[in-house]
Amino acid sequence: MSTISLNRILSNVKENGHKLTPQRRYIIEIMMKNNQEHWSTEEIYAEVKKVCPEIGIATVYRTVQMLEELNLLTKHHFSEGCSRYEFADETKNHNHHHIVCTKCGKVMEIQDTYFDELERHIQDDMNFNITNHTVTFYGICEDCKE
Ligand SMILES: [Zn+2]
Ligand SMILES: [Zn+2]
Ligand SMILES: [Zn+2]
Repeated sequence: MSTISLNRILSNVKENGHKLTPQRRYIIEIMMKNNQEHWSTEEIYAEVKKVCPEIGIATVYRTVQMLEELNLLTKHHFSEGCSRYEFADETKNHNHHHIVCTKCGKVMEIQDTYFDELERHIQDDMNFNITNHTVTFYGICEDCKE
C-alpha cells in the first residue's frame, strides 16, 4: 500500500528527459491501477497487451528499466530468476516488507511495527546501531494451506 501519485510519476519521467509515449503511459497506469502491486515484467506485458495489442515485451522491459533507473520502481527478487517491481513510496525512508507464498507465488505486504522490538533487542544485545533492514518471509498462504 504505497503513497504514490500518477502525476508525480509522469512528471518525473518527463523532467528527466524521457519521452512519455502512449505505450509507456499505459504501462505506468496499469501498474498503478491494478491492485496486484508486485509485478513481474511478464505480468505487466500480459496486462498492457489487452489495451495495447501492438506492444512488444521489449518496450515493457525498457520502460521498467527506465522507471527503475529513476528510482520510481523498487525491484524485488522473491524467487529465483523472477524480479518483481512496485512503485517506490517516496513518503517512507525505507520500504515495507513482504510475505511470499512459495506455492502460488502470492506476495503480500506486512506492517513495519513488528520489527521495532526486534531492532531494539539487536541494538542492545549487539551494541549495534541499526540504520535499515530488509525482511522477506517465505511460507504457505491461507489459500494454499487447505
Ligand atoms: Zn499461496
Ligand atoms: Zn510491496
Ligand atoms: Zn522495516
